[in-house]
Amino acid sequence: MLYFVFTTGQCNLSCKYCGGSFQPEVVPWEIQYSLEDLISFISKDKDAIIAFYGGEPLLNADFIMKVMDSVPAKKFVIQTNGLLVKRLKREYWLRMDAVLLSIDGPRDVTDYNRGKGVYNAVISAAKYLKEIGYRGDLIARMTITELSDIYRDVMHLLDIGLFNHVHWQLNVVWCPKWNFMRWACSSYLPGIRRLVKAWVDGLLQGEVLGIVPFLGIAKRYMYGGPIPPCGAGEEAFAILPNGNIIACPIAVDVKWAYLGHITTHNPFELPGKVSISEDCRSCPYYSICGGRCLYANKERYWGEEGFKEVCFVTKSTIDMVLQGIKKVENAVGKKILLKIFNYPEYNNTTEIIP
Ligand code: SF4
Ligand code: SF4
Repeated sequence: MLYFVFTTGQCNLSCKYCGGSFQPEVVPWEIQYSLEDLISFISKDKDAIIAFYGGEPLLNADFIMKVMDSVPAKKFVIQTNGLLVKRLKREYWLRMDAVLLSIDGPRDVTDYNRGKGVYNAVISAAKYLKEIGYRGDLIARMTITELSDIYRDVMHLLDIGLFNHVHWQLNVVWCPKWNFMRWACSSYLPGIRRLVKAWVDGLLQGEVLGIVPFLGIAKRYMYGGPIPPCGAGEEAFAILPNGNIIACPIAVDVKWAYLGHITTHNPFELPGKVSISEDCRSCPYYSICGGRCLYANKERYWGEEGFKEVCFVTKSTIDMVLQGIKKVENAVGKKILLKIFNYPEYNNTTEIIP
C-alpha cells in the first residue's frame, strides 16, 4: 500500500490555490512520533510505498534520510516544489523511484500561481537531478486553473525534455467556485481533444507521450484499478506528523477521513472504512472514473450542480481518451496495447483522473 508520510506541515511557498503552510494545530510542523513507531507500523506491510509529502517535505530532509535508512519500503516517492533540492544528499535522490516536481506549465502561469522565480527554480531542480545522475521517473505535477491552456502547458513541459511524465489535477471542488464550465467548454475540453490527438498520433508512430491521465485511463480500461483511482482509503493512506492516519492527504481536518494512529493501528485494518458514494456506483463511467476523488466526493464544496459539472468534464475526457485508444487498438491490436498501457506500474501518487 501507499503511505504519504508528511515530513512537516510547513511550506516555503504560498501558492494561490493552496495558501502555503498548514496551521500547526492542524498539521504539526515537526514530527511528533518516534522513528521506531513508524518502522513498526510500516514494516508490517511488505509492499509498502512511501511518498514524502508536506507542506514542503524537503524542509525536513533529515527526517527523509532517516526514514530511507531505516524503514523497509519497496519504493520511495517524493512530491516537492523542488526549491530545496540540494538539502537531500545525492545518494537519497538516486534511491527515489519517482520524483514529482510541482510546476504548472510555462513561466508566466507557474510564477503567477506559485510565486515569482519559481518556474526557473523548478527547471533548475530538474536539471540538477539529471546532472547528479537521477534516472528514475521525473514527473511534472501541474495544478490546472483558469489561466491554464492544457494543450500548450502540457506540451511545453513535455517539450522541455526533462520530465518523463506530466500529470495534472484540476483546481476544482476544494477551492471556492469559479466559472469552471465556461472555461472547460471554451478552453479545457478543446485542449484535451488536441492533446489526445497528439498522443494518438504519437502512439501510431510508436512514440508514447508521457501524459499520465491518458496513460492511467488507458490502464484502467485495459486492467481496471482501485476505486477511487488514487487509492485513497483503499490502498493509499496519509500519516500526519502527529502519527494520525487519514484516508487522503488533503483531508487533514475532516472527521470522516480519520482512520487511526500508527501506534494503535496496523496497516491492514485501514482499507475500506471510507468509500465513494452510491451515486457514483451506478454511473456508467464508474469502472474508469472510479468516483474521481474521494475528498471531492465526500465534501462536495461546489454543491450537486458543481459536482455534476466536474463529472461532465471527467466523462468528456474519458470519452475522448477511449476513442483515441480504440483507434490505436484497431491499428495495432490489443496485445500490443496491453504491453504499452501499464503506467503507472505502482501507485506513484499520480491520481489518474484530473
Ligand atoms: S463521472 Fe461523476 S458520477 Fe460518474 S463515477 Fe465519476 S465522479 Fe462518479
Ligand atoms: S484525488 Fe482526491 S481523494 Fe485522492 S488523494 Fe487526491 S484529494 Fe485525496
